[in-house]
Amino acid sequence: MALLTILKFPHPILRAKAEPVTDFGPELAGLVADMADTMYDAPGVGLAANQIGVTRQILVYDPEPDKEKRAYQVVINPKIVVAEGEEVGEEGCLSVREYCSEVKRAWKIVVEAQDLAGQPLVIEAEDFPARILQHEIDHLSGVLFIDRISALKRALYKKRLKKMLLAEKEEQEETQGANG
Ligand SMILES: [Zn+2]
Repeated sequence: MALLTILKFPHPILRAKAEPVTDFGPELAGLVADMADTMYDAPGVGLAANQIGVTRQILVYDPEPDKEKRAYQVVINPKIVVAEGEEVGEEGCLSVREYCSEVKRAWKIVVEAQDLAGQPLVIEAEDFPARILQHEIDHLSGVLFIDRISALKRALYKKRLKKMLLAEKEEQEETQGANG
């Protein structure tokens, strides 16, 4: 089990467009296994490759909260081909510290993708799994859920984050000073 570092907003790689995967070899399988470990450890219900600094179109997700029933799905090179209905639900993100907000998403989607072996994969998802998939597919285009909330809410969050980061930095400097 290898845990990867999850990048936090405003890291620039979270804004990068991920490239399609063309090599479905053992290296990909290893990366995906590490991504799943990292997702469960966080804990989260989904993780996109940008979040661990890899700009490839890879995501893993598992909407099942029960540890005993864990079975994550690997989705490579996904494209949303059908999006129907609308639903507002609460979202957070492993890359966005201490923030949750309601986000409007399609209620039902159909995704065309490839599996870990490069075989075609079609996923039909509704409700919560559809929300996770839309959130993770957004990541692969450099889009975060805070881009889908009101400009006012986003500005308030950015202001709060700035304060949080500044406080963290000051705390670090104080600790270093005490040690030195
Ligand atoms: Zn996220």
